[in-house]
This record gives sequence, C-alpha cells and structure tokens, in this order.
Amino acid sequence: MKLSRLGEFGLIERLRRTTLPGRGVRLGIGDDAAWVQTRSGSCLLTADLLIEGVHFDLKWTSLYALGYKTLAVNMSDIAAMGGTPAYLVLSLGIPATFDSEDVDQFYRGIRSLAVRSGVALVGGDTSVSKSLLISACLVGQAPYRPITRSGAQIGDDIYVTGTLGDSALGLKLLKRKSPKLGTQRAAKFLLSRHHFPNARVRIGTTLAKEKLARAMIDISDGLLQDLGHICKASRIGAIVAEERLPLSSAYRSLAGPDGTRHALAGGEDYELLFCAHRRDRSRIAKVQEYTDVPITRIGTCVRPRDGMAVVDRAGQRVDFRATGHDHFKPL
Ligand code: ADP
Ligand code: MG
Repeated sequence: MKLSRLGEFGLIERLRRTTLPGRGVRLGIGDDAAWVQTRSGSCLLTADLLIEGVHFDLKWTSLYALGYKTLAVNMSDIAAMGGTPAYLVLSLGIPATFDSEDVDQFYRGIRSLAVRSGVALVGGDTSVSKSLLISACLVGQAPYRPITRSGAQIGDDIYVTGTLGDSALGLKLLKRKSPKLGTQRAAKFLLSRHHFPNARVRIGTTLAKEKLARAMIDISDGLLQDLGHICKASRIGAIVAEERLPLSSAYRSLAGPDGTRHALAGGEDYELLFCAHRRDRSRIAKVQEYTDVPITRIGTCVRPRDGMAVVDRAGQRVDFRATGHDHFKPL
C-alpha cells in the first residue's frame, strides 16, 4: 500500500503488529517511549529524527537553536512517561560545506539544555550527507510506573500544560518573513516558543510520583492528533471545550482569522496532555502551584462511540478540518 494512503501512524501500527516481544520489554512500540527492564531496574528509551527541509529550514533556524530543540523534543517524550532524561546518543549526517564552528554552535545548543537538565551526551555517530540529518536517542530513568497513553477512563478530566499553538503560529510568521518580526514583543515570544520548546519534565515526574495522571502524551503533532492517540489507546472518546484552550496573550494578539486553529492542530507545542480522575482536581491544582506552570482542564473523556469533538461556548460542535501532522499524508 502507498504510504500516502497508509499514513505515518498506519505504518507504525503495521510495524508494531509485526514486531516480536523481546525479553525485558515492558512496553514496546506505540507510546512516547519504550520501557525496558534491566538487571538493576528499568529505563525509558526514545528516538527522534530531524531532517533539513522536512523538520527545519536553516534559513530561519540557527544551529544553536536546533541543538537545543533536538534535546528538548526527546526530553519531552521521556517527560510524557513521567521519566527523568539522563543519557543522549546523538548521530549526525553533515553536509561537507559545513565547518567546525557550525557544528560547535549545534553542540553549544545541546549543552545549554543538557547541563541544566542533568543529561549527559554519551555517544553517537557521524557521517557526511547531502543535507543536515540529526538522529537522537535519549535514555531516561523510569518512574515506579510510567504513564502510558492507554489508562484514561470515561469521565476523566483532560488537562494540558502551558499554552497551545504558539510554536505553529511562530512558524507561520517565520514563513511569512514579516520585516517587523524581530521587533514585536508578541512575535518574539512565539518565535522563542518555536525554537526553544520547554520539555515539561518536572510536571511529568510529579504526576507520575503522585499517581495523578492515568494517561499522558506530549503534544508534538497537534492537540487533536495527540488526543486521538490517547483515545485510541485508552478506547475512549473525548470532548474538548474550545473556550478553555489555554492561549498566550501573544497568540491571542497575532492569531487573527486563524482563531484556535493552531492551538487545536498546530504541531511542536511539546506541552503535556493528560487525563486524570475528577476527584484529583485539587491535587492537580497543587502541582500547578508547585511547578509554576499553568495546567488547564480543557475537556472530558467520554464513551468511545461519541468520538472526539470540540465544542464552542454554545455547546455546538466546531468543525476542524486540519487535525495535525502526518509525515506521509498531505492535508
Ligand atoms: P512521538 O510523536 O511521541 O515521538 P511517534 O508518533 O514518532 O511518537 O512514534 C510512536 C511510536 O512508534 C513510538 O513508540 C516510536 O518508538 C514508534 N516508532 C516510530 N517509528 C518507528 C520505526 N521506524 N520503527 C519502530 N518503531 C517506531
Ligand atoms: Mg511523544
């Protein structure tokens, strides 16, 4: 079957079905990270690929920012399991036109986040290639019980951390190449959200330790797409209230006719999306106080046959055409 029909997630599902269970694999393909048993305990593993011309464009991304983002997006997957990022293996395909200062810039970006997150770069591989290719694998310390995508139950609340859509709107501004871009405060904020995402490790580990989240994922491909992964894995439906979506003031001031589109379907937020029992609302409010990051209740888990819906203030279903990012399926 053509990949344009099967789609990225259809392909991954196919790979998952044909993969044999391995010894010590407690959770394999299909979540934000794998969970494996070792002799002395257990750990989490995740990998991400960043390709020039697909994931980034060096016309509007510095190598420093790219290094930072490479580590941040991997940390986000470990955070989504409630784990603590620890060891990074980083492989690069580098065009022969680069010089050593370019590579230094990239590693400076990695280091700036690694140092403050306690992550150690422990190896990788290097090759020449036509365009810049970055392949990262991050190992994390697992909590006692990692939070998967599959534990949500009907009646659970749905929460997100931080604000949504900033990164996608920032990217749209970059592509538009507005001349005033660097000077507007709001635009600057959106661009920094795009270039320097914040992996929510502290919230993830707290939710795991306190056993507050029953299912969790990080939002890398758009809220609706990633909520769809939780719905599928947990066999539930979901209703999201559009008016509850957490939007930054920069987003509100610059989204214009796009409305909530980027918050619902834009990629690269790297915020956490999780489901929790209703009785835990006050404990979750305490996690927000403790971590000083907004945690917003945006919806409810419902019966699977009710599907996934976004409703407006009047309770009417909002029509959303674009649902998120798939590498093989054009929108
Ligand atoms: P995320 O957006 O959280 O990084 P992905 O959608 O990329 O997750 O991947 C979902 C799951 O599929 C993960 O468990 C990932 O490890 C697995 N996966 C993705 N691509 C491959 C592949 N080529 N081979 C094996 N597993 C894969
Ligand atoms: Mg993820």
